[in-house]
Amino acid sequence: MVVVGASLAGLRTVEAFRRAGYDGPLTLVGAEPHLPYDRPPLSKRFLDADEPPRIPTYRDESHLRDLGVELLLGVPATGLDTDFSEVVLDGSRLPYRTLVIATGAHARDLPGVAVDGVHTLRTVDDATALRRDLDAARRVVVVGGGFIGSEVAAAARKRGLEVTIVEAAPRPLVRAVGEQMADACSSLHARWGTELRCGVGVREVRGNGRVENVVLTDGTSLPADVVVVGIGASPTTDWLTGSGVTVTDGVVCDETLATGVPGVYAAGDVARWTNGLFAREMRLEHWTSASEQATAVARNALNPHAAAAHHSVPYFWSDWYGQRLQMVGTCDGADVVLFGDVWADRWLALYREGDRVTGALSLNLPARIMKFRALIHRRAPWRDAVELAETVWSVV
Ligand code: FAD
Repeated sequence: MVVVGASLAGLRTVEAFRRAGYDGPLTLVGAEPHLPYDRPPLSKRFLDADEPPRIPTYRDESHLRDLGVELLLGVPATGLDTDFSEVVLDGSRLPYRTLVIATGAHARDLPGVAVDGVHTLRTVDDATALRRDLDAARRVVVVGGGFIGSEVAAAARKRGLEVTIVEAAPRPLVRAVGEQMADACSSLHARWGTELRCGVGVREVRGNGRVENVVLTDGTSLPADVVVVGIGASPTTDWLTGSGVTVTDGVVCDETLATGVPGVYAAGDVARWTNGLFAREMRLEHWTSASEQATAVARNALNPHAAAAHHSVPYFWSDWYGQRLQMVGTCDGADVVLFGDVWADRWLALYREGDRVTGALSLNLPARIMKFRALIHRRAPWRDAVELAETVWSVV
C-alpha cells in the first residue's frame, strides 16, 4: 500500500489501513519535510498568538513508526506509471498494489507579482513567513474575502493592524453560504474594523523590492506593508499528467473513491467524487471531509469487492474575531430561513429545497450544528429541521 500526500488525508488513511487489520508494507510519501500537521490553526492561532507557535503536528514520528509506516518526507512524487503500478519519485520508483492519492491542494497565486511581502497561505512555512512579516507591519491588504482571507484579516486585526479586504465579486462567500447569508457573514468584518471593498479587482502590486501599494481596478491605491492573497486553492494533480488517472479540477472518482484505474484511489482535498447523498460530484476543501474520506478509502481499498459508496454531508467551520461560523450541507439554489438577528452574537440559518433541509449555517452555536448534519444525512423533511431549530433556539 502506498499513500502519496503526508497531511491529514494521508495520515488518516494509513491509520485506517492499520485499524482495519492490514499488516503488510505501508509507505507514506510527502513532499513537505514536516511530519503531518494541522492546517486550520495556520490562519488563526498561528498568526495571532503572542508566542511564536510550534508546528501543529498531529502526532510525533514514533506514532508512525509504531504503525509500521515507512515515511518518506521531503520526497515529492513526480509521476505515476499505472502500466507498471509504480509511483515515480525523484530518481527512484516505488511499486504499489494499492495507491491512495492524497496530495491535497495548493494556494492560487496572483500572477505577475514580483515584490516581497506578498504571501499565500497553505503550508506551515507560508504561515511562518507571513507571521514574521506581520510582526513588522502596520497595514495589511488581503486579496479575496473567502474563509482563509477572512481569518487572516481577523488575526491581523487582533494584532492591531489596519486591514482592508479586496474582493472581486459583488459580495464574498456566495458559493459557500449563498447570496442571503453572505452579507451576514461579511458584516463581521465591519464590526471588528476591517474594511471590505467588493466588486473591485487588483490591477497591480507595486513596490521597490518590497510591497508598498496595491492598485485596484478602479484606480484606488491602497498602501500596504503586507499583502495576503487568499483567492482559493487548486488540487495538486500536476504529477499525474499522462498517468491515465482522470483529472478534472481534482482526481475524478466514483462513489467509492476509486479512480477507475485498477488499485488507485483518492481522498481529501484532491478528490472529486460522486456524493450519492446529493446526487452530484463534489470536491470539498474541508478538514472533516478529508478525514472521513480517508477512513472510507482505506476500507474500500482493502475490500474492493465490497466497496461502499461514501456519502457525506459537507461540514466546515471558520473562526473570525473570536466568533465561530459553521456550515453543514449545501446552499445551492436553496431558500433560507433565519433564526435570530444577523447583528446579534448568535444566529442560525436553515437552507431549504422543496420539502428537504439541505444546509444549516450558524454563528456561535458550536454544539448544535452537528444535529442538523445528522438530519441532512438522513434526508429529513423540512419540518423536522424547523422543529429542531426551534428547540435549539429556545435554549440559547
Ligand atoms: P493537504 O492538507 O493539502 O495535504 C496534501 C499534502 O500532500 C501536502 O502536505 C502536500 O505537500 C503533499 N503533496 C502534494 N503534492 C505531492 C506530491 N507530488 N508528492 C508527495 N506529496 C505531495 N478546513 C475546515 O474545515 N475548517 C477550517 O477552519 C480550515 N482552516 C484552514 C486553514 C488553512 C490555512 C488551510 C490551508 C486549510 C484550512 N482548512 C480548514 C482546510 C483543511 O485544512 C483541508 O481540508 C485539509 O488540510 C485537507 O487535507 P488533505 O490531506 O486532503 O490535503
